[in-house]
Parts: sequence; C-alpha cells; structure tokens
Amino acid sequence: MTEFDLIRRYFTRATPNAMLGIGDDSALLQVARGNVLAVSTDMLVSGTHFLPGADPYMLGHKTLAVNLSDMAAMGATPRWVTLAIALPDADEVWLERFSAGFFSLADQYDVELVGGDTTRGPLNLCVTIFGELPAQQALLRKGAQINDDVWISGNLGDAALALAHLNKKLLLTAGELEACMPALLEPQPRVSLGIALRGIANSAIDISDGLLGDLDHILDASQVAAVIDFSLLPVSSVLSRHIQQPLGRQCVLSGGDDYELCFTAPVIRRADVSDISTRLGLPLTRIGMIVAGRGCIVNDAAGKPLKAEANSYDHFR
Ligand code: ADP
Ligand code: MG
Repeated sequence: MTEFDLIRRYFTRATPNAMLGIGDDSALLQVARGNVLAVSTDMLVSGTHFLPGADPYMLGHKTLAVNLSDMAAMGATPRWVTLAIALPDADEVWLERFSAGFFSLADQYDVELVGGDTTRGPLNLCVTIFGELPAQQALLRKGAQINDDVWISGNLGDAALALAHLNKKLLLTAGELEACMPALLEPQPRVSLGIALRGIANSAIDISDGLLGDLDHILDASQVAAVIDFSLLPVSSVLSRHIQQPLGRQCVLSGGDDYELCFTAPVIRRADVSDISTRLGLPLTRIGMIVAGRGCIVNDAAGKPLKAEANSYDHFR
C-alpha cells in the first residue's frame, strides 16, 4: 500500500464544511462572518501518553477527544482537524480500527478531517484542531473574578484511578475497573458545555493535567486565589470507596486525564449554570470560590486546609 492509498483509504472522508479538504497542498477553511478561528494542537506519543499496544479504536477516539476538549475549554465550536501521524508500518487492521475510533467521535461533533501528514516512524499522533466562535465570547483563563463560584463538570479522578490500578499502585475489583476505564480510554469532551458557557462563565480550563494544577493556571492568569471545599468535589461511587487513601485523594485533586471543564462564574449565574446542567444532562458542581490573593487552598469538611500534595502533570519535572 502506498502512502497515498493509505491516506485515501483510512483518512479521506467527505468534508462539506470545508472549502477544500484533503488532496491539495493545503486545505481552505472559512469561518462565519464575525467569528475568529480557535486553533490548538495536541500530540500523543507512544509510551508517554498511551501504552504501546493500546487499542487502536480507543486511541483514535482519544487522539481527537483531547483536542476537542481544548475547544470546549475555549467555548469554541470545533469545525476541522488535521492529523499528522508517524506509523512504524502500514498495519491495515490497526489503521482500520484507529480511523473508525477517530471518525466516530468526529461524526458526533460534525468535525471534518481536512489534511495532515503521514510518515514512517515510532507511533506518534498529532492533531491540530480548528474551531470558531465570536471573538468576545472566548472563555479565557484570565477572566476569573473575585467572588466567582468555581464549578466542575462530571466526576473527578476515575481516569487516574484506573491508571493507578494498571500501574499496580492499588488494586481495584474487576467491577470497579470496568466502571473507571471509560474515563481513561474514552473521555467525553465537554464541547456542548463550553459553547453553553459563552457569556456566562468568566473563565474556563479543561483539567487534563489534574484539577489543582489546571485551576492554578486560571488563578495565575487571573491573579486571584481560590478556596476549594474537598467534601464538595464530585466523585464516582467507585472513587468514593478509595477517597480515604492518600492515593485516592491524589487522583481526585491532581489525577490527569480528566477531560472535565473547571470554570468560574458570577454568583448571579447559578441558576443559568443549573439550567445548563439540566439541559445537557451533565452534573455541574460548585466546589468553591475565587478570593483575593494567590494560590489555591483546599479545605476539608471541618474547614481545615489539606496539605497540598498535588500538582499537575509536568513532562519535564
Ligand atoms: P505534501 O507533500 O504537501 O506534504 P502529502 O503528500 O503529505 O502532501 O499529503 C497529501 C494530502 O493528504 C494533503 O492534502 C494532506 O493534507 C493529506 N494528508 C496526508 N496525511 C494525512 C493524514 N494522516 N490525515 C489526513 N490527511 C492527510
Ligand atoms: Mg506531507
């Protein structure tokens, strides 16, 4: 199979939303009048972001999901992606499964693959995503205001808990593992939430590197502090069984691979946020508030600060 056969067979689909898609020297894309492009890139490297031998369908899903999550965190509507892929060989079974996982999520969000690059090499997947939104409505990290509520979508820590089990740092039952694995393998990007929060949230971030570390980016950019109530943090029934252990707590506070949104919104927007939660069928939980100062304090149920053991994942630390 030639490189061009491979691209045609596994990565070329109709792209009615693009002026020009795959096949020329570049794609041509047009956003609606008054909108700006939101552009973001995420790379997944074998051995760093996924285990060699990872299920290719799940990998196709996740490669796109992590990029969609960045659009969600910006409040952007995802429109197009490019895919740069290095492959050790043209394994057709692998390619078939990978592209099925990738396009199944792409179809769900009406996102089109409009270009990319294909080379031989150690498995490496790099997606650039292009979204659009009205410029003034982007959800920036720097917008948090003193007295804002701090909100979180979904549950925290399940992906990290599943990974801890795989790395033999703790033992889950078969049932527990089954309940947590989807968070690790098939994260659901909160695209509809991001769009719904335009004009409501003052700031937002996706917590792919863990709650505390990513919330810190909002606090730094906004030059404010946060007080978080540990007992309010939303967790699954599985995680709640492990939350007394330091490792369980660490999964909740700083576990990576949670593609939930953390956002801040004015107190007067509480009803709006609840309405969004109902409409999307997605739990949105108020976990604390923004205050003057710098840094983040996490209080236990008695209002005593927990020791901050937690920081976000950093590849170079
Ligand atoms: P160039 O020589 O300009 O780099 P290529 O021959 O690499 O172009 O690619 C041919 C076409 O196929 C281009 O439109 C490119 O964007 C697209 N393409 C290449 N690899 C991929 C891929 N993995 N996924 C989607 N499109 C791809
Ligand atoms: Mg090329």
